[in-house]
Amino acid sequence: MAAQEPRRDLAELLFDPHSAAAAEMSRGFDQDEAWVFYQGEQRRYRDSRIGLMTHALHYGTACFEGIRAYWNPEREQLYIFRPLDHFQRLHQSASILRMELPYSAEELVETSIQLLRRNQFRTDTYIRPLVYKSSQEIGVRLHNLEDSFLIYTQPFGEYHERTRALRCMVSTWRRVDDNAAPARAKISGIYINSALAKTEAFENGLDEAIVLGQDGHVCEGSAENLFIIRKGTLITPPVSDNILEGITRATLMQYWTEDLGLPLVERPIDRTELYIADEVILCGTGAQISGVGEIDHRQVGDGKVGPFTRQLDEVYNRLVRGEIEKYREWCTPVY
Ligand code: PMP
Repeated sequence: MAAQEPRRDLAELLFDPHSAAAAEMSRGFDQDEAWVFYQGEQRRYRDSRIGLMTHALHYGTACFEGIRAYWNPEREQLYIFRPLDHFQRLHQSASILRMELPYSAEELVETSIQLLRRNQFRTDTYIRPLVYKSSQEIGVRLHNLEDSFLIYTQPFGEYHERTRALRCMVSTWRRVDDNAAPARAKISGIYINSALAKTEAFENGLDEAIVLGQDGHVCEGSAENLFIIRKGTLITPPVSDNILEGITRATLMQYWTEDLGLPLVERPIDRTELYIADEVILCGTGAQISGVGEIDHRQVGDGKVGPFTRQLDEVYNRLVRGEIEKYREWCTPVY
């Protein structure tokens, strides 16, 4: 197999909004001047400060969402993709952490719209809400602590280089187990699991990590859900296999079964099925739809982005920009 350079620039861009590539895309944007939602009101980013002793900073007692808004230049419209689903999941994460989120999912969609409008974004944008234990005190626990909430938004440009397949490894790190730290909840502290796996892959010169559960079955990527395709069947681990119940995952599953009318199975996936699959796909709000061309030095398919993956990527890109009538209700217009 021909050696390929790791797609580090893309990987950094997709998963690190503070990377050099992301900075290039948000040129001319001054984060300090941006409007955020903090302590119940819209404020400038520069006027929003968090104390050194904040509980969440020390113990990871916070949960968050990653939401994208997509600019459609023809319609001159910015669409937030499935914001209600994201804020409902935030409520679920908060409830698992016994946190108070005093706004309904609907109110949070409205707040996000107002923020994007006030920031006058006319480009692809990332929305980051965070619920966190804000008490400034020592002591690991969830009870008897104050909860706070913030949202910030940031330009997060489209990246067109989605033609090259990712090179991956199966991580030596295992996915957190539901009875230890629930992967189903998007909890800040749990992301140390993702960070260990991601950096291990990066330091091995690869693009991304695939993480197994304690029982050795495939869970997901470091920040993406995983699909394999075998003989025209889309296969993905069930939600009881320590995965985040991804919104991109749900989107692809619905499109696959309803629009393409093709078979889908949710079942445990063995590690070696990754090696012999026709196609392997990683998907998520950040990663969008990424084809995998290599895992543990074995070529997947023909080593390139597979035909189904290409098709799903192309459809997803139109779908999130409000270009597919059937799915336009998932795209919340900002203007
Ligand atoms: N798994 C993990 C661990 C993630 O961080 C993400 C990104 N949020 C996903 C899966 C994909 O979820 P979604 O499609 O809802 O972004």
